[in-house]
Amino acid sequence: MTPSTIPQRVGRLPTRPVLALVCAFAVALSIGPSAAVASGPPRNQGGPVQTAPQIYIDFWGPGWSKDPLNERQYLTNFVRSINRSSWLEILGQYGAGWQHTTYVISWSDTDISHRPGPDPSQDATKAEATRAAHHFGIRPNHNVEIIIALPVGGTCRPYHSWDSDVGVAFVAYPYNGDPFPNHQGECAPGARTVSHEIAETMTDPITEPGHFAWQPEVADPCDAEASRTVTMPDGQKFLVQAIWSNKANGGRGACVFSG
Ligand SMILES: [Zn+2]
Repeated sequence: MTPSTIPQRVGRLPTRPVLALVCAFAVALSIGPSAAVASGPPRNQGGPVQTAPQIYIDFWGPGWSKDPLNERQYLTNFVRSINRSSWLEILGQYGAGWQHTTYVISWSDTDISHRPGPDPSQDATKAEATRAAHHFGIRPNHNVEIIIALPVGGTCRPYHSWDSDVGVAFVAYPYNGDPFPNHQGECAPGARTVSHEIAETMTDPITEPGHFAWQPEVADPCDAEASRTVTMPDGQKFLVQAIWSNKANGGRGACVFSG
């Protein structure tokens, strides 16, 4: 029997004024271990982490012909730029390969027969991850992460999960300009959402019982922190989320922007 895959909670805070609404949204979506997000620092649960992350991007659907915030370029540049950055170095303490993170390639899946609706289900997104994995020729590998990037005009519902059909991790990445399900507030500025999800995928790729790595997940405790612009090794600047560091603050832990 295959255990059900549990999507892990995500980056969610665009601006402080919508904090209360957004938290309610997050609670509504929280299931399984991720519901215990506030219960102390991340602890090693024994599952694998990504020691050599390979990141692919699938721009899902013909809706990507419109890209008012130029997210295709921004997202691709972000994934290309993070390796060896001081921001990604935070994850080194958890065993993740912050110096071995590779952007591989992207794909524009413009097939209208399986284009996403405005709020695709987890099953639909997982099916797209499977299509993307086949397109890319990926074999089962917990170091692989496919970002399923949704076009503009949907709902902000980001998470990362595990595609058990292929054996790869995937991120449901909403268009940053899209609203939350309650239609109040936009999803997130800059790389806030994707930085949250990449950090959590690298430190907990297999979101299934018995395979968890670091729980609670490393970005969730820092959702309330304001985003900050960080400079990557190639000089590009991105607005990212803080990540929880167990070793910061004299070992008491803190939300930080560099490792
Ligand atoms: Zn999260």
